[in-house]
Amino acid sequence: MMVGDFAPIDLEDTALTKFDRLVAAGEIIWGPSTPEYVEHEGFQFEFRLAPALLKKPILSRNAPGRSKPVGPFVDPDPDFVVGKIGETHTLIFSKFCVPRPHLVLHTNQFELQSDDLTKSDLDSAWRVLGAFSKTPSMMIYNCGVDAGSSQGHKHMQVFPKPEGRNFNLFPDLTSLPEGNVVTLPNVPYKHYIIALPERPTADDLVERYRTLVGLAKLTLQDTGGTAHNVVMTKDWIMVIPRSSKGFEGVGANAAGMVGMVWVGSEEERNRWTSLGLGAYLQKLGVPL
Ligand code: AMP
Repeated sequence: MMVGDFAPIDLEDTALTKFDRLVAAGEIIWGPSTPEYVEHEGFQFEFRLAPALLKKPILSRNAPGRSKPVGPFVDPDPDFVVGKIGETHTLIFSKFCVPRPHLVLHTNQFELQSDDLTKSDLDSAWRVLGAFSKTPSMMIYNCGVDAGSSQGHKHMQVFPKPEGRNFNLFPDLTSLPEGNVVTLPNVPYKHYIIALPERPTADDLVERYRTLVGLAKLTLQDTGGTAHNVVMTKDWIMVIPRSSKGFEGVGANAAGMVGMVWVGSEEERNRWTSLGLGAYLQKLGVPL
């Protein structure tokens, strides 16, 4: 089913109903998590303890699934498919989830998770964000092993974005000037944000994304690395250069870098404090 085959509202409602059904059937590993809010040197964290994450397989750097078409996104379980997004992408349910719903948008043909996003990737993500009209959502892309990805087949993730009294995405807390690359205070690592026009074309997305990725790669050029996180909402795109996915089982993907830290145990949560919260994020990213 193409996204254009049903009204956007259907995609959102269908996804949520089906997600809850798969959770009840034990097919999706999700349970409600109580958030813990922490502010550290002006940077907000929203920790969520989700024991489901302990079950999530993370492919090692050299596993076959990092470079060859094997794994869950090659021929996805039909029960997990939310819908085809155009000819190029499929929207499926993530198996190990913290948000509700938590969706994976993967390429139909095998491409590498270390490749940059293409016009069709960005266009597909935009269409999914647009379809979630009742629940403002965010897209993340963990580009490369050191960006916190666990699968090697190119995939983005889409889920509701936090909006509330206690926690917001930091680019949402300020009014961003259109057209300029912005970095914000109280964020302990390098990051590049551009506001989006109200109704961007796919070319508008590509142009802004390329500017940001270019800056992130320039930041990393002395290290030889290229890993980075992309976060996109209907209002802005942000790219965060990464130097490490984490150490000794305490890591972060794009969500973790913006403060939405999903941990599998109390012990892992406590290690974030001993590792220095913002200081640790800085170590996973690039210091200012
Ligand atoms: P990342 O960790 O950024 O590479 O994203 C991988 C995503 O795929 C995570 O959200 C996982 O929960 C999800 N995932 C892993 N295995 C499966 C599977 N068999 N079916 C559906 N989603 C999966």
